[in-house]
Order: sequence, then C-alpha cells, then structure tokens
Amino acid sequence: MGGRREAEGVQLVLLGPPGAGKGTQAEMLSQFYGIPQISTGNILRAAVQAGSELGRQAQKYMNAGQLVPDEVIIGVVQERLGKPDCAAGFLLDGFPRTVPQAEALDRVLAEMERPLTAAVEVAVDPEEVVERLSLRRTCPQCAAVYHLKNKPPRQPGVCDACGAALVQREDDREEVIRKRLEVYAQQTAPLVDYYAGKKLLLKVDGGQEIGAVQAEIRRKLEAVVNKA
Ligand code: ADP
Ligand code: ADP
Ligand code: ZN
Repeated sequence: MGGRREAEGVQLVLLGPPGAGKGTQAEMLSQFYGIPQISTGNILRAAVQAGSELGRQAQKYMNAGQLVPDEVIIGVVQERLGKPDCAAGFLLDGFPRTVPQAEALDRVLAEMERPLTAAVEVAVDPEEVVERLSLRRTCPQCAAVYHLKNKPPRQPGVCDACGAALVQREDDREEVIRKRLEVYAQQTAPLVDYYAGKKLLLKVDGGQEIGAVQAEIRRKLEAVVNKA
C-alpha cells in the first residue's frame, strides 16, 4: 500500500450500519488520501460538548438513537464542504443517512462542480455490530476510536493520540444500539440502492480485520480513481 497518494478531488461517502467501522476506516483513508474526514457524528458531539445551539437541538435525538432532522444536518454539512480544506476532496462519514440528505448532497456537489467519486458500503453482520459497539471506546478530545479487544489503546483507558481519558459513548448502550440499528434499516439502508442506481456503489466486506478492510477499500477505489 505504501505512502500517501496524490489525490485530485476524491469525493467519498462511507455507508454502513452503526459499528461497521466507518470511522475507523475514514481515519485511515483521510490520512492516505490527504483529505479531511467529515464525521457528522463527531461534529454533533463536539456541538453538544460546547453547549451550542446546534448541540442543544441535536442532543435529545442522539441520546434516543434517532436521527437529527434533515434540515439541521444538511446546513451543517453544506457549510463544512465550503471550507478551504475540502478543495482537494473530502470523505463524508455518517452523512448522508436519509434519501433527502443524499438528494441535498447531490445538489450541493452539483453547485460546487464536485461530483462524488464513490460511495463505499462497509457491510457487516448485525450480530458483529452489537459486539463492536458494546466494546467501543472513544476519545472525547480528538475523536479517535478504540475497541477493548480489537483495537486497544497502548495504555488502558488513555488515548494514544492525545492522552485524554477514553469514554463509552452515551448511545453505545444496548437498548440505544438496537434502536440505532432499526433506524439504519429503515432510513439509511435505502441509500445502498440509491448509490447503486447511480453506479457509484463500492461494497466491501467489513467483517474482515481492520487492515484487510482498508486494503479492500483502497484496491476498489484505485480502479475508480484511475478511471476518472
Ligand atoms: P455511528 O458512528 O455509531 O454510526 P455517528 O457518530 O455517526 O454514529 O452518529 C451518532 C448520532 O448522531 C446518530 O445516532 C444521530 O443521532 C446523529 N447523526 C450523525 N450523523 C447524522 C446524520 N447525517 N443525520 C442525522 N443524524 C445524524
Ligand atoms: P462506525 O463509525 O461505523 O460506527 P467505528 O469505526 O466506530 O464504526 O467502529 C466500531 C467499533 O468496532 C470500534 O470500537 C472499532 O475499534 C471496532 N472496529 C472497527 N473496525 C473493525 C474491524 N474490521 N474488526 C473489528 N473491530 C472493528
Ligand atoms: Zn484523543
């Protein structure tokens, strides 16, 4: 796989159920391609921590495992995509999550003349996802993602990247996890067909170990990016 690759306008969307490994893969892809990882979940959690108006609006939905309203999140993403660091491309992690969000994204990208390169679906068995989310730990400061068994930090309970104390997310409790999986099946899973219909879908087996998933994504992207 080697070093970073020169990327000209790589515009990516990552799809998959909660716990599929989107954030984990996004961190690695973002470094490899030199493009920002735009995680709507991270943006919303930071807003909740900061006590902003956005955080105040989003918190009750997040704690219940429901989606925040489309009109709230679409504005956030549109503004973020206008920032200078998105000039060489970007990686959306956790957005879009509904068909109206996907349609809004298409409109914004058409306006920017920056069409999507691909939508990568990280497919994982629902049983596996529950186990992954129950043992997930995250850094409240830099948003790094760990797993007690599969990706433990070097020092227990401490973020490798920034030294902050790791936490279990409020919504990574079993009953909220179940609700989030239901919401995924109803509202987000239709996006797989949406992007397949536009010939943008790349499906990868998210049940493999982390490095193997990353390798499969890069291999499949290589084919698409080179064609462009
Ligand atoms: P996960 O990584 O486990 O799939 P996220 O961090 O992406 O979870 O999202 C956490 C919560 O933030 C969601 O359950 C939802 O309440 C809210 N959220 C994040 N992204 C969106 C979005 N695109 N639309 C609506 N709600 C969102
Ligand atoms: P998502 O962003 O899709 O909700 P995460 O990237 O946060 O998913 O991963 C969920 C949990 O599973 C984390 O604890 C992460 O360390 C772990 N994980 C991610 N990818 C894998 C994998 N391929 N195999 C095993 N565990 C994984
Ligand atoms: Zn950290």
